[in-house]
Amino acid sequence: MRKRKPKPSKVFVCVECEKRFVEADLDGLWFFPSTGICRQCYLEAMGDGGTCFGKREHRDERNAVCSQVCPDRNICKLFVELSEGIS
Ligand SMILES: [Zn+2]
Repeated sequence: MRKRKPKPSKVFVCVECEKRFVEADLDGLWFFPSTGICRQCYLEAMGDGGTCFGKREHRDERNAVCSQVCPDRNICKLFVELSEGIS
């Protein structure tokens, strides 16, 4: 029987800060492969008044941008829900 090579673990790189993440980080929500952006960068966006990301007061499910168009919509929702859980 031939020895199988260990499967190389996939590495993800944040498009914003270029930090690297491994598959195990996805489970901990440190990195979001659907957008290629890490949690830290999303947290910064959330604290940045210039974006609507993760801000409950800007989020409106009836708005097509929030419910269908925005590439960050699912993660935005998650962050809004998380922040509601904290506060
Ligand atoms: Zn990042």
